[in-house]
Order: sequence, then C-alpha cells, then structure tokens
Amino acid sequence: MPASDKDDLKYNEALKKKIARLKKQRNAVIIVHNYQRDEIQEIADISGDSLALSQAAVRTDADVIVFCGVQFMAESASILNPGKTVLLPVMEAGCPLADMITPEKLRAKKIGHPGAAVVCYVNSSAEVKAESDIACTSSNAIQVVRSLKEKDVIFVPDKNLGRYVQSQVPEKNIILWEGFCPTHIRVQEEDIVRAKKEHPGAEVLAHPECNPAVLALSDHICSTAGMFTYAKKSPAKEFIISTESGMLYKLQIENPGKKFYLPTSHLVCANMKLITLGWVAHSLEKMVYEIKVAAEIRDKAKKALDRMLAVTGDKPLTAVSGY
Ligand code: SF4
Repeated sequence: MPASDKDDLKYNEALKKKIARLKKQRNAVIIVHNYQRDEIQEIADISGDSLALSQAAVRTDADVIVFCGVQFMAESASILNPGKTVLLPVMEAGCPLADMITPEKLRAKKIGHPGAAVVCYVNSSAEVKAESDIACTSSNAIQVVRSLKEKDVIFVPDKNLGRYVQSQVPEKNIILWEGFCPTHIRVQEEDIVRAKKEHPGAEVLAHPECNPAVLALSDHICSTAGMFTYAKKSPAKEFIISTESGMLYKLQIENPGKKFYLPTSHLVCANMKLITLGWVAHSLEKMVYEIKVAAEIRDKAKKALDRMLAVTGDKPLTAVSGY
C-alpha cells in the first residue's frame, strides 16, 4: 500500500474516533443517504433513501440529527422532527433537480391549470411541498397519482419520473415540469447496450429519474429501496445498476455472492459527495449547519407528506421522544 494511502487511512480512523466521541457527547444520530461516500456510509447509524431516513429520524430519541445527504432531505427531517436539531454538515450540498422549481413558478403553473392536483416528488424544497397537494417518492408515485380524484395532475419537478408515472397511469393527464436530475440524465442508451454486452447475464435495474430510452432497455424500474429488495430476491448473480454510484456500497455488502456494475462512470452526484468525514466531525463539534423550516411552511409541507403516507397506509408522522 502506498505511504499516502496509509496516511489517509490513519487520518480517517482518527476522524471516525472523533465523530464517535462527539456523537456521544451531543446525543446525536448520524443518518446517511444511499448516495453518500463509502466512508460516510460506514459511520451511519441509519442509512437508506430520503423518506425512510426522515421516518427513522422520528423514531430516534437522539437530540441531534446529523443528516448526510442534501438540503431538501435535511428539510424533510426538520419538518417531521421540529423538536430536534437537524444538522447538514455542508450547507452547499443542494440538489440541482430541487432547484429547478420555485414556489412562485409553481403558483403561476397552477393558475394555468385550475382544478389540477399538484403532486411533488420529495426531491423538492419545503416551500414547493407547501404549495403541493400531496408528495410522492419514486417508490409510491404511481400509487399516489392513482389515488387522486382529479384527472389533471401537475407533476413536479422531475419530468422523467412524471413520464414514467404517465406510462403506468394512462387514465390521468399528467402535466410535466421540465426538471431533471443531472446525474441520472447522464446515463445514455448506448451505456446500457455496452454494459449488457460486457455482462450478458446481468439484469438491468434503473431508477425512474433516468431518461425513457434507458428505462425501455431495463429489466426492472424501481427506487433505491426497490433495488435492494429486488437484488436480494432475484436469482440473477449480476446486475447493472442505473443510479448514483454510492448504491453499490450497500448492495455489495448485502449480497456478497452477487456482482454489481455501473453502466457508466459518470453516475456520481457531486452534491452528495461534498460530505466528508472531516465535515461530519466539524458539524458535530460546532453544531453546524442547522436546518430549520418556518412554522407556516412546515405545517403546509407536512400536510403534503402526511397525505402521501395516508395513501401508502403509513400513519402521519409525529416526533415521539423515546420511541
Ligand atoms: Fe439531486 Fe440527482 Fe443528486 Fe439526487 S442524485 S441529490 S436528485 S442531483
């Protein structure tokens, strides 16, 4: 092993010890999204997709939640846990997809479509959620849209997820927003064709944020949570994973006898990778950067989240200390 790698390892181990000590001192929990760096996933108390993480946060009796993800996720954790301190270790860790819509632009769109229901993907700001009738995730979007009494549905902000939902719910008229995830959109049809040639026995699992040509070549279209379930139960031994590279970390740990490949090396979300061990230690030491949502926005945004949970059969979320 080169000397610089050894130094890095020693440095990371020292940071992990510091994080463990500060975590105890602050009575904190470290919550980590599946797209984070491997070394951040290693220190997770809870890891998963954005909504599962916010739900898990409700069930913890920690005083401080360190959210290793991007801004809209920390906002959701704060909306659902108003009595807890929610920290985002790097304030600049935003989501370009969430930034492709503003509450002002959404209000203008609603005026043009009176009578339409507004469904917002959880990858949106608290303000946009507050302007929406109901939220959805990539795993429940079809169920949420089907549950609505309105025929016209403004679906924001991801056009690829919206298109996919339209293909599965033809009885609705889905009005798309021109937003997209700059990471998932990088996978091209030819990347999947090449990866299939290189790994002929592999099944292709694609996230619905990928473009329609990629989805058309996939064996299974699902959320990140769906990928874990599918990879475990499928008899296939190899998988091409069309979503952010961080997913491979846990897929490989949970399925030691199986192999996972990315269709392209470009599947990296730069925002997700901003968080490092050093920034997590800094966050716990200085108690930064606290994410708070104003009460009037929080109440409206929570209604959209709770309405979604009612559709999927989950109870509305309320922070319960000590649960
Ligand atoms: Fe946003 Fe896409 Fe990055 Fe997720 S992967 S945080 S949707 S830019």
